[in-house]
Amino acid sequence: MKKSTLLVPLFAGVAALALAGCSTSPTAADSGAADGIRVVASTNVYGSIAEAVGGDAVAVTSIIDDPSKDPHEYQADGQNQLAVSKAQVVIENGGGYDDFIDTMLSAASGSDPAVLNVTDISGLEQEGFNEHLWYDFPTMQKLVDSLVTEFSSLDPSEATTFEANGEAAKAKLADLEAGEAAIKASHAGEGVAITEPVPLYLLAAAGLDDETPDAFSEAIEEGTDVPPLVLQETLALFDAKSVALLVYNEQTGGPQTDAVIAAAEKNGIPTVAVTETMPVGTDYFSWMQANIDAVSSALAG
Ligand SMILES: [Zn+2]
Repeated sequence: MKKSTLLVPLFAGVAALALAGCSTSPTAADSGAADGIRVVASTNVYGSIAEAVGGDAVAVTSIIDDPSKDPHEYQADGQNQLAVSKAQVVIENGGGYDDFIDTMLSAASGSDPAVLNVTDISGLEQEGFNEHLWYDFPTMQKLVDSLVTEFSSLDPSEATTFEANGEAAKAKLADLEAGEAAIKASHAGEGVAITEPVPLYLLAAAGLDDETPDAFSEAIEEGTDVPPLVLQETLALFDAKSVALLVYNEQTGGPQTDAVIAAAEKNGIPTVAVTETMPVGTDYFSWMQANIDAVSSALAG
């Protein structure tokens, strides 16, 4: 990830930026220069996928790449705004997950990046849907296709590379789907509990049934208090051993998450931790493989 030295002198004047030449539709010469196509992703998850498709021909900035930050509550800063204002491609999850991107896009008047909204790309019914789309591999297949198309139109000289990278990424996604299918083959219909909807697309594709009361995971996700009766009902899942696994979001833990982890451990039910954003020192595909492996070995244990 290279940062243009232009960033420093322009930092004080975001408004000046729109006039600085980034706003016109980029030509191949423009985007094919040393820095590559300028891509901004709301989180390092989408940043990693963009890097997989774009390789050396893209320069990716991920707004959130710190596992201690909760994307649901993130407030963008001036440096983020500058990156968005200079971007040729912006990737956002959408669906209310990373609204800070929309805020920055509307403030970046004069620039006109291609915006890839993963919620729109997913084609999923958005009413009350689970917005953690990066755990949904069919949607990531579609995102890869969109990235190949977008990058190729910005830098046609690299189109064959983008195409090949896209095929490689989709092969890795197919491997991940095979991992889900393997879990399904031996554990279809087994009950699981979650603290947040984060991993639900993966768990559902692996044939597992979420037994958690909706009111519990919704309260944890929104950071509100879980009503006592709902907490009791959730804890009873473990005492009754009606779930084979607890998958919890370790990025937004708290006393109620701790309570369900304790209930699982007390009853000898395995637990798997997942996160919203990608841990440091990995890439999207290895991270998801590790999640699948963790679920698989927890269920086998
Ligand atoms: Zn979340």
